[in-house]
Amino acid sequence: MTRVLTDVAEAASLLRAGELVAFPTETVYGLGGDARNARAVAGIFAAKGRPQFNPLISHFPDSDAAFEEVVPDERARELARLFWPGSLTLVLPRRASSRIADLAGAGLDTLAVRVPGHPVALELVRLAATPVAAPSANRSGGVSPTNAAHVMEGLSGRIAAVLDGGPCEVGVESTVLDLSSRGAALLRPGGITAEQIEAAIGPIGRALTRAAGEATQSLRSPGMMLSHYAPSLPVRLGAADVASEEALLAFGAPLPGAGAMWNLSPSRDLAEAAARLFAGLRWLDAEGRRLGLTRIATMSVPDRGLGAAINDRLERAAAPRD
Ligand code: AMP
Ligand code: MG
Repeated sequence: MTRVLTDVAEAASLLRAGELVAFPTETVYGLGGDARNARAVAGIFAAKGRPQFNPLISHFPDSDAAFEEVVPDERARELARLFWPGSLTLVLPRRASSRIADLAGAGLDTLAVRVPGHPVALELVRLAATPVAAPSANRSGGVSPTNAAHVMEGLSGRIAAVLDGGPCEVGVESTVLDLSSRGAALLRPGGITAEQIEAAIGPIGRALTRAAGEATQSLRSPGMMLSHYAPSLPVRLGAADVASEEALLAFGAPLPGAGAMWNLSPSRDLAEAAARLFAGLRWLDAEGRRLGLTRIATMSVPDRGLGAAINDRLERAAAPRD
């Protein structure tokens, strides 16, 4: 039985006892476990059905705690100062002294670390007093959860509890930036935009974030699979028109004629669109299946700022599946 909690201290003591607890962050809900407890970490992979070559992000209450596990350089310190707490994950060389379970880092000599921006997440990782490994709290390959009910849909009965902190504000996952070598590389566009990062540390490589770069990308970021965030209905991108047997993910003025419609943002606001993305995919999928529709068609979203993160998720949702 998975319990729904509102008491952060209770959730923290479950984590300390090696249990799995889903919790709100400003990006999406995370599936947390004690990163130093190999059994808890293995449990995260099992609960999600996640391939074990896909490393997890560890979460910390502040940058000092994070930098006890990894070696920061000047760029990392500057980005931490500017964007933590917040939706930026840094991949850095792992310290020899780190006690984070090997499985959390998928056996790599780097670790992904983040200080989350949501007050409940911060309080939880502070009270847990251990690094908290947390991927998104959904079954592997599926649509990420942005509220506690989404978490229960996928993981009820598989984890000890979900800490309910309401809907997530940002709505897409953190930006993953690899600083483990000289050239900074954007491994995943997300809540902090590439433009914001470049304003702080100069040009970063971002060729690796799109489908075309998948083969190269998988070398640096194992597990960033092409097919991901997939609803059960197929997804058609960049629709210029829509059929009545399609469900429409709209942006701005909706195309007429869809069998069902969810508008990411009538006013074409990218932050609003990001926050409504995963809930929209889930709703269109359920509503589309209920009405016997055949597909989800998506309208184009500008590829700048948070739009890059939205397009990355949509491309993966539309990618060929195994
Ligand atoms: P998730 O926690 O599911 O949002 O996914 C986190 C993503 O961060 C994974 O898919 C990895 O590709 C990436 N990641 C985590 N740790 C590392 C690492 N040490 N090196 C490169 N990428 C990483
Ligand atoms: Mg995920």
